[in-house]
Amino acid sequence: MEFFSTRGAGPVSGAQAIIDGIAKDGGLYVPSSFPKITTEDLRDLAQLEYYERAAYVMSLYLTDFDYEQLREFAKKAYDRFDGDPAPLVKVDDDTFILELWHGPTLAFKDIALTMLPYLMTSAKTRLGDKSKTLVLVATSGDTGKAALEGFKDVEGTEIIVLYPEDGVSDMQKKQMITTEGGNVHVVGIKGNFDDAQRAVKKIFASKETNEKLAAMGYELSSANSINFGRLVPQIVYYISSYVDLMAADIVDEGQEINFVVPSGNFGNILAGYYAKKMGLPIKQLIVASNKNNVLTEFFTSGVYDANREFFKTMSPSMDILVSSNLERLLYELGSRNPDYVKSLMAKLSDGGYYTVDEDDLYDKLPEFIGYFSTEEETAEVIDNFFDEYGYLLDPHTAVAVSALFKYIGETLDSDTPTVVVSTANPYKFPQSVYRSVAHAEEEDAEKAIKKLNAFSAAEIPAAISGLKDKKILHDKTVEVADIEQTVLDIIGSKQC
Ligand SMILES: *Cc1c(COP(=O)(O)O)cnc(C)c1O
Repeated sequence: MEFFSTRGAGPVSGAQAIIDGIAKDGGLYVPSSFPKITTEDLRDLAQLEYYERAAYVMSLYLTDFDYEQLREFAKKAYDRFDGDPAPLVKVDDDTFILELWHGPTLAFKDIALTMLPYLMTSAKTRLGDKSKTLVLVATSGDTGKAALEGFKDVEGTEIIVLYPEDGVSDMQKKQMITTEGGNVHVVGIKGNFDDAQRAVKKIFASKETNEKLAAMGYELSSANSINFGRLVPQIVYYISSYVDLMAADIVDEGQEINFVVPSGNFGNILAGYYAKKMGLPIKQLIVASNKNNVLTEFFTSGVYDANREFFKTMSPSMDILVSSNLERLLYELGSRNPDYVKSLMAKLSDGGYYTVDEDDLYDKLPEFIGYFSTEEETAEVIDNFFDEYGYLLDPHTAVAVSALFKYIGETLDSDTPTVVVSTANPYKFPQSVYRSVAHAEEEDAEKAIKKLNAFSAAEIPAAISGLKDKKILHDKTVEVADIEQTVLDIIGSKQC
């Protein structure tokens, strides 16, 4: 399998695509074709454990990697999860929740970020690249901690995470600044997420900084969701959940199912689309957004307009106006013509706006349908769902459930088996979830956790309960203007 940039560059090998992260022409790497998966394959996968299913699916794309090695990587990555990495919980006869938050940081990003370090290290060996890796991450919360957990103590790698000092939740900050590991650096920025993100982009683009890093033996790498190495492990749980439903006789062989996915950067649901392209029987991919509803508008009208007010919501990991991974979908929409993607991306960067032909969108991507949920609706869904099923939804997953209700209300398609992709444990957002179910305020995170537990009896995961006893190990904060120098100083200090 080879990989092309959505803007035309390539082809490159899977190993090269993972090391590069983003293609040299600014595009995203996409596979040259979609490997096929048959009903027979699905039947065979039913006999395997999750990590083995992961190795199999990944091997179809990463053909330049060794299969046995992929198995070993997947085993190590998913051994870090508390039990099954992707269990399905039945809600009613046709609705299932796919819990993707049993990993070290309690969010679905663990599925890919526990795997990516192995892929990256092995890719370097494969290509004879002797440089060490500097993973540089700007985070608004979840990605930072998941990347820290994935890359901590990985040999030949340093990881620096930059977070806006006052722009992440208490729990998210505590999770990050208590991370242990000899190669881990967490730095607060006196600015917002955009400042951190811009600084990181500037460092990636700076020839001078890259040369200075190279002189110290380091090469920059991206753990961001544009890296194909993050996409491929996410394809697995779409296939795996179908296999589980088939094995349990809930779906017949070949029967179509729906997935509803809380979406921000569009990486999660794009993996579902790739699974469908491989032959997985998917009827509808329901794109769920919060009040930042740029994707809903796109799938409803073909208009992508990032020129709009930005809202901070209780599902912060979906507070996003430019969904990077949508570029990979536009590539398919434009029948894999890089010029089509280039022209749209030029419009986006010039004016924050582009449109695609509406009829084309419905003809070529009929599986996509978008709905969004207001803050009030999300809170109401958390409340009602707990009342009705005794199940506590995190705000991101609640946005998905809300979208599902709207979809059923509009299409009356209530008989298709549907998987709700659940992306975080509710205790990651204790204040919002407590407010929604108990109709009471608790600003303090620790207290909200206790109160939520008393109210709901939902189990507090060890990664949360252990947090209050953890020592703060990272207290560095810097001005935005000093970020570049700080990065060089950190790597410089590793020289002696
Ligand atoms: C990152 C994240 C999302 C959004 O996923 P995308 O791949 O960016 O669409 C949704 N929920 C949670 C909890 C997340 O951390």
